[in-house]
Amino acid sequence: MEERRRALLKNLPKIDEIVHILERKGLCAMAPKEIVRDACRRVVERERLRIMDPKGDAGTLRLPSIDVAAREAAGIIQGLHRYRLRRVVNATGIILHTNLGRSPLCPEALERLQKVGEGYSNLEYDLERGQRGVRYDHVRELLCALSGAEDALVVNNNAAAVLLVLNTLAEGKEAVVSRGELIEIGGEFRIPEIMEKSGALLREVGTTNRTHLSDYEKALCEKTGLILKVHTSNYRIVGFTQQVDLTILAALGRKSGIPVMNDLGSGCFVELDRYGLEREPTVQDVLQTGVDVVTFSGDKLLGGPQAGIILGGREMLGRIKRNPLNRALRIDKFTLAALEATMMQYLQPEEAMGRLRVLRALSEPLASVKRRARRLLLQLRRLNVEGMTFSLKDGLSLTGGGSLPTQGIPTCAVSVKAVHLSADRLERRLRDLETPIVARISDDEVLLDLRTVDPGELSFIKEGFSALKKASSPEAP
Ligand SMILES: *Cc1c(COP(=O)(O)O)cnc(C)c1O
Repeated sequence: MEERRRALLKNLPKIDEIVHILERKGLCAMAPKEIVRDACRRVVERERLRIMDPKGDAGTLRLPSIDVAAREAAGIIQGLHRYRLRRVVNATGIILHTNLGRSPLCPEALERLQKVGEGYSNLEYDLERGQRGVRYDHVRELLCALSGAEDALVVNNNAAAVLLVLNTLAEGKEAVVSRGELIEIGGEFRIPEIMEKSGALLREVGTTNRTHLSDYEKALCEKTGLILKVHTSNYRIVGFTQQVDLTILAALGRKSGIPVMNDLGSGCFVELDRYGLEREPTVQDVLQTGVDVVTFSGDKLLGGPQAGIILGGREMLGRIKRNPLNRALRIDKFTLAALEATMMQYLQPEEAMGRLRVLRALSEPLASVKRRARRLLLQLRRLNVEGMTFSLKDGLSLTGGGSLPTQGIPTCAVSVKAVHLSADRLERRLRDLETPIVARISDDEVLLDLRTVDPGELSFIKEGFSALKKASSPEAP
């Protein structure tokens, strides 16, 4: 048997020969020579490992023909030309799905990306004075006008915003936080860890379920740099609980000359309770409490691009802006362009509810979601996919992204059942489509939740199921 392995190894396709075939087929033009050779080398190497695998049965091993090897190498090269970061249809019903890119952008933001991206821009250029300008100025005025803050700064994301503020105000000093607010958001964001990286010393006060004003008061000393209040975004403590109001903490900070910061997580500018949702304090409300600094994300309830927004007084923000760490966390021109357009929508809050997809999904009446579900149901039934049945199913969507964690939003889904496919297999097929559909499985059923599917995306789903039908029909290769 060892002899057979040796013979197979000797007859492995030669890299030069595979390259030659690719050349003849014109595939060498698709990538630099070294990348083409490397693809061929990988194919041969894979075969070599297969032959050498002691678990493999040498008697049944076969070598691929040189053409098969060339086809595989061509596949690798062609794969490099396929975009990996792609649009998908979010049919999970989770509105702010961090793994699916959180918030889609509004058309106005997309238009700005194109405009600013295709040419040069005044990113850091003051057009009036013809000299160097400040990149934050493009969004500062809007953010301040809409929130009532004195000054604003924008960085890469909210994690960066928290890190930057902690480092500026509390490096080498104590930051006082309630034990009920030492949160983990997921994706490695944990308050105690970010605090350690910032150089601030965590000073925990109170207990998991109850923290009183006196707990904060007792902790304050000459080592205190900051009082931090964190929005418990993705969980709620219920029952015998007590947390200190931000207004009271802000007053305590003022009295003791210690800055107070609020990590708000999901900064919201509209009153969600008007749309039957849980009340989230708006950014305006939070600033009204007299807190010194507020931070929140650009791509959670705000409905814009990934960003971390820092609002507060001019003196405080000046210190934060001058921190050299700010340079390392700085925001890029595309984010600024998209954020500016997003914030502009809030000048007309009623219209923002319709234009910003996250807010639209949160506030859309159930009857309207149902109409879209019925439309999709009809379209899918009309396709007559062999062995597949579709029906409507009521359920609950979630906000996600660490916002409104206890609130399910009534929704309507199209349930898909396939005779020859388990729910898991079907869900997998949907992810393999040209425009992948990410669905939800519940009780062994594949559900397409229409609350997170826009009317303009129904065609992707229809085309996807058409493709499934073609692939499963008997005459398909
Ligand atoms: C989401 C969240 C963060 C992290 O924000 P990113 O924009 O994801 O970096 C920080 N703090 C709180 C309270 C959050 O909810």
